[in-house]
Amino acid sequence: MIARVVTDLALDRIFDYIIPEDLLPVIRTGSRVTVPFGNSTREGFVLEVTRFSTCEKLKSLTGPAPGGANLPEKLLELGCWMADYYCCTQEQAIRTLLPGAVRSGKVKPKMRKFCTAADAAAVQSFLSLHSGQKAFAGRCEILRMLLESGGTAMDELVHFYNFSTSSIGTLVRNGLVRVEEREVLRRNAHSGRVTLPGKPQDPTPDQARALAVVDDMLADRIPRKSILLHGVTNSGKTEVYLQAIAKVLALGKSAIVLVPEISLTPQTVSRFRARFGDRLSILHSGLSDGERFDEWFRLQRGEASIAVGARSALFAPCADLGLIVVDEEHESSYKQSEAPRYSARDVAVMRGKLENALVILGSATPSCESMLNAKNGKYHLIELKNQARNQAPPAIRVIDQRAYGPPEPGKSTFFSPPLIDAVKSRMERHEQVILFLNRRGYARVMLCDACGYEARCPDCSVSYTYSRQRQTLECHFCGGVIAAPEVCPQCGDPKIRYSGVGTEKIEAAAHAVFGPARIARMDSDTMRSAADYEETLGKFQRGDIDILIGTQMIAKGLHFPEVTLVGIINADAGLAMPDFRAEERTFQLITQVAGRAGRGDLPGEVLIQTCKPENETIRCASELDFEGFMNFDMEAREVMKYPPYSHLILVHFRGEDEDLVRVFASDFSRRLEAFAGEGVRLRGPAPAPIDRIKGKYRYMTMIFGEKLGIIRRALRQMTLHEKAPDGVDVFVDVDAQSLL
Ligand code: ADP
Ligand code: ZN
Repeated sequence: MIARVVTDLALDRIFDYIIPEDLLPVIRTGSRVTVPFGNSTREGFVLEVTRFSTCEKLKSLTGPAPGGANLPEKLLELGCWMADYYCCTQEQAIRTLLPGAVRSGKVKPKMRKFCTAADAAAVQSFLSLHSGQKAFAGRCEILRMLLESGGTAMDELVHFYNFSTSSIGTLVRNGLVRVEEREVLRRNAHSGRVTLPGKPQDPTPDQARALAVVDDMLADRIPRKSILLHGVTNSGKTEVYLQAIAKVLALGKSAIVLVPEISLTPQTVSRFRARFGDRLSILHSGLSDGERFDEWFRLQRGEASIAVGARSALFAPCADLGLIVVDEEHESSYKQSEAPRYSARDVAVMRGKLENALVILGSATPSCESMLNAKNGKYHLIELKNQARNQAPPAIRVIDQRAYGPPEPGKSTFFSPPLIDAVKSRMERHEQVILFLNRRGYARVMLCDACGYEARCPDCSVSYTYSRQRQTLECHFCGGVIAAPEVCPQCGDPKIRYSGVGTEKIEAAAHAVFGPARIARMDSDTMRSAADYEETLGKFQRGDIDILIGTQMIAKGLHFPEVTLVGIINADAGLAMPDFRAEERTFQLITQVAGRAGRGDLPGEVLIQTCKPENETIRCASELDFEGFMNFDMEAREVMKYPPYSHLILVHFRGEDEDLVRVFASDFSRRLEAFAGEGVRLRGPAPAPIDRIKGKYRYMTMIFGEKLGIIRRALRQMTLHEKAPDGVDVFVDVDAQSLL
């Protein structure tokens, strides 16, 4: 038999090897194997076992790779589809299927020495002979304990129970105690945590309808399709996920739950843990290699049957998968920004199809793509229209900031008078407030009034952001940092000024305006680790913080019943982005942030500050009018034939020599035109909206069309199997989410 093997070299090629007779029983699709390659050996995965090969001189594969984990067959199939669809090499796609810790073969299971009573009869007679004798007290105690516990870890006997190693040693030599190595799990941040068990809630009528559809699909009474669960915040989507998971577990199947990394908060985790306890495997970014290794095998062996995590949890090796949930399906973080540039939501739908598992995509603000799929009947749409506990939706007020005049020197204009009043009234009533601004840093730009100089990153075509706390100018694109100048670097004038606003400045202004209130800021400048995050959230939960200021980090998933006011400092910020999804993102963000208010018994209020109150997106968001917004946005997209009415592939060209990049991009795009069939439109190459980052010029070509199969194949060939000139990088982003 022949094994078709994809090696770890990024060649995007498959090599055939003979499977030696004696290895036939152990080599199958998905096996990790060692193969001779040139003069060396390599590792790879068996993609297929067949009888035939078109190659003439075949070598034999060496054998299973030491310490290597085998891939479930269906996952491998998914990887091959990803390589094809997302125009990346087979190796890149397959690499993403396995965490590095598992793939490398370097991490080993953790072993621990366990002591057990060797021979019950011998132990009993030892005990009856020596009980009560002082010299044997320690040894008798050890034996009694081992009989009772059925086995105890050696280090625990020594360090926890304070038995001496010499007594244990004597018992072992006398054949009374046996020592054996057992595989144990590494303890991770979640494993030791005790959570009170939680019970399912009686479903609301909306939830009951959703769960009935799940039942019908599981029983194949209605055709299986991906379910799009559209429910306003607080409508009980999470409860639907929990109960749907319970249903598939009852059938002996497993489940995967994807959440945006940012929502993997202790709050979400503890809700799942309360319901499912140790059957849960939490795959978060803070796991060590060893912990990740353990979790992977726990899922593979079926010891854990629910994987919860961000994007990459989609590839959990769950056997007999019954359900995949993608929460906040519209989130752009589901799209990976490096190769393979896959969308975890879309790949989830594909994995569901391959493994005949149900897929639930949930959101308060589903993406245009998913709404169109629902409209076309590709997805089954279920709506949860009411809040689960019958709270009123928050009252939303739009504040026209133009009414309050231009900024006056020395006065805070970030807070309009109505917002100031609203915050102060909350402080008097001891309620909590969230203030949201999706920009970190102190000021956006440093300007010189004397000569007009603006401080810009020399390597990127963007302005520096000023951090007052650190007294630095920082580039948010390349991470470049310089000391903040005290005089203009161009003309030497001391009249420099910082304008624009970030969360750091809002925090300073809030201290000035809201006096003794306890204020905290949450953004990627202040939250350097998961511990920071948990600490601040904990304080807010306990009421030790009155006002929480933050970026999108606080927009999602958080549940604080005492928050009765949310202030959106500048709703217009995102609308200016040169991206056809700018309106959609703005609508989603406002809706998400607004959903943080009034989650408890007290009614919530949301104030949206804007200079464009007449803007359709802001109007719809303030009226909680999702349908109105969809009609408006989808119509614009249909006219322009933008996604979801077409697919979009971006081809990026980058390099330090602008002429070289531009010329190559033009040639490349011209060649590509030949593959553009009917209804396929190419645009560009043109400079990207941010045309230089880290010293590299950026050009891009956009490809729009409903059927892009042919051009995708050409792109695969041209980007993976042809060499671009030295100094030019080319890559493809299929179904691009960001145009920057
Ligand atoms: P979503 O995920 O849509 O934001 P959640 O599932 O978090 O909504 O539910 C919002 C709140 O309503 C939570 O406090 C939850 O405990 C409560 N809740 C959800 N479903 C029910 C129910 N059927 N009965 C009572 N309370 C519920
Ligand atoms: Zn830069």
